Amino acid sequence: MKTMITGVRPTGKITLANYIGGIKKFIEQQKDYNSLIFIADIHGLTTYIDPNEIRNNILDITALYLACGIDLSHTLIFQQSDVLEHCNLGFLMSFQCSVGELSRMTQYKSKKAELSKKDKDMGLFIYPALMAADILLYDASIVPVGADQRQHIEKTRDLGERFNKIYGKTFELPEYQIPKIGSKIMNLQNPSVKMSKSAPKDDKGTIFMLDDIEITKKKIMSACTDSEGKIYFDEDNKPGISNLLSIIAVIDDLSIEDVSKKYKDYTYNDFKTEVADKVIDFILKIQNEFYKYRNNEEYLKKILKDGADKARNLANKKMEEVKKIIGLKL
Ligand code: AMP
Repeated sequence: MKTMITGVRPTGKITLANYIGGIKKFIEQQKDYNSLIFIADIHGLTTYIDPNEIRNNILDITALYLACGIDLSHTLIFQQSDVLEHCNLGFLMSFQCSVGELSRMTQYKSKKAELSKKDKDMGLFIYPALMAADILLYDASIVPVGADQRQHIEKTRDLGERFNKIYGKTFELPEYQIPKIGSKIMNLQNPSVKMSKSAPKDDKGTIFMLDDIEITKKKIMSACTDSEGKIYFDEDNKPGISNLLSIIAVIDDLSIEDVSKKYKDYTYNDFKTEVADKVIDFILKIQNEFYKYRNNEEYLKKILKDGADKARNLANKKMEEVKKIIGLKL
């Protein structure tokens, strides 16, 4: 059976975009693969985050994934920092990189631009090497992610391939799996930027999965649209409406053609009301499940520990193989 892996950083609060870009597809396919989800807490530390916040986010994410439908008989969920082989291999993978190529990575450039002068950027810089290790360590063949991660998965393939060329076939080269609809959910207030969980908690354009549903309703009702008054999909000229069409298509499991047809004669107000009702209905179900898990921290910690123990076994075998191949094992 092939392996599928995905990760999420415990920075900020999980958004509807995270669900659409990374979680949904993973849950749908978890039984068809050896499935692993890691909470990318080391990636989360590339810029400062309050230690209490990171602890809280790790537990929130675990509970949220369970609430979204992770089946523990098929899927391991664990903290990246509990399996130190990620760091060991990440360090080795950085030897396959050049400074020039890492400094040209889109995410590095955009995140570096957001840093203040006193912030350090080395963590962001070597992010792709650690991410390559996260995936190559388990010989994963498929990685469900949003469009923003495409370049990082391509880099993972490059680094794995370079290593394989030097030492012989060691790593499976992964494919990214980007959802057909909703690969880049945009901010509701500013549909030219992606919805991001690093947004401030009161950001009107970001739907946080754990927000009060009245707040979510208000955010959708005040989403930026356009003055044309017609509902159809055109990301370039109607980014706001197209974003809402993508969201409703994913929630209802319909194609963009189907939702465009369904809502073509709606007023913007009626359309937004329907989007809001459907999103709220969906989020409420997940929130109800979430609190059942979130109120039992001991259970969550146990799941993460069990997941890490099993993942460590796999990772350790691979690291031993790598050490042998590169000549470190006597
Ligand atoms: P991150 O928020 O960077 O930890 O990403 C977690 C997962 O959510 C990754 O698979 C991302 O590609 C995905 N993701 C993040 N933002 C978006 C977005 N605006 N639209 C679709 N997917 C997203």
